[in-house]
Amino acid sequence: MSIVQRSSLSAIPAYKQGATPGAGEQAFKLSSNENPYRPLASVTAGLALELGTINQYPNAAAPELLGILAHRLGVEPSNIALGSGSVEVAGQLIHATTNPGDEVLFAWRSFEAYPILTHVAGATPVMVPLDRNGAHDLVAMAEAITERTSLVFICNPNNPTGTVVNTAAVDAFMAKVPSRVLVVIDEAYVHFNISGDSAIGMDFFHRYPNVAVLHTFSKAYGLAGLRIGYAVAPSEVAANLRKTAIPFGVTSLAQRAAVLSLEHEGELQERIDELITAREALLGQLRAAGINVTDSQANFIWLSTGEATMEVDAALRAAGIWARAFAGDGIRISIGSPEANATIAGAVISALQDAPAHV
Ligand SMILES: *Cc1c(COP(=O)(O)O)cnc(C)c1O
Repeated sequence: MSIVQRSSLSAIPAYKQGATPGAGEQAFKLSSNENPYRPLASVTAGLALELGTINQYPNAAAPELLGILAHRLGVEPSNIALGSGSVEVAGQLIHATTNPGDEVLFAWRSFEAYPILTHVAGATPVMVPLDRNGAHDLVAMAEAITERTSLVFICNPNNPTGTVVNTAAVDAFMAKVPSRVLVVIDEAYVHFNISGDSAIGMDFFHRYPNVAVLHTFSKAYGLAGLRIGYAVAPSEVAANLRKTAIPFGVTSLAQRAAVLSLEHEGELQERIDELITAREALLGQLRAAGINVTDSQANFIWLSTGEATMEVDAALRAAGIWARAFAGDGIRISIGSPEANATIAGAVISALQDAPAHV
């Protein structure tokens, strides 16, 4: 007799992690938008001291980290809810705002976790296609709001296309969103966004009562392995996020690493600047070769390879580039180390030349 299980789970795909080359293989893992740099010595040295406390539970209130973040962001600590990565906080936001069958609205293609987290919460995903340039179609998204809509995710810059939404477009969108609907601006890549007219999540948080912002230490700050991210949200929402969180989900090591990273932001910014420079150089090389690649404001680029995607991805792998392919759609390649970046352009140019459908 088989064990009784929740029937709707069979319809939910498992989250797919970016592929990793086998040990000893000469290849670059550019499939998960990780920071290619090793953690700062100033961070690992501080963590070594913290190791002596891991027999104890962490302080779930994380007063030191919340104090620093609140001060920097110009909010109260009660507006901040931490999680084991911002993906956990995204799930908490859905649990905190939806009743069974309520709708969670987001653009598609966007972050792979949104539909999974929505289904797991018992809510219904409503996915509005990106426009021709791989950008959010905020007009269509506003039209897709119904009386069942509880939550909207705007991923800015968008994973995996790297596009941004501008301030005027988000203001026009907010004018059409009922104030009972929470709009979450997911800024996992905000540090790499140098676009002058991009919407800035914290501006919107300060200007609208129904906006929350998601930030993570995983990407620009290079702490993906420690799992820490947070939402800035209206305090009544943040209080419910804490209720939906797994107790002690944010470890003392993660809290310490976040504090140390904020204390050494100057060093981290140099690396961020290098990644941005490498991104722009790569886009320039691809365009010079006649490839029509969209701007990216994140630490990755996007190739709309359409039907040729799996073939192009196989050619990239053969050239040592392990990217993230979405069959029938496109390929996301993270900006990596200087050595990795030196091989990306050549690999992409020759992979596309051999593919039947040119990008
Ligand atoms: C990577 C990513 C996250 C979260 O990462 P965590 O490691 O869970 O903090 C959230 N949103 C988007 C769009 C991402 O790409």
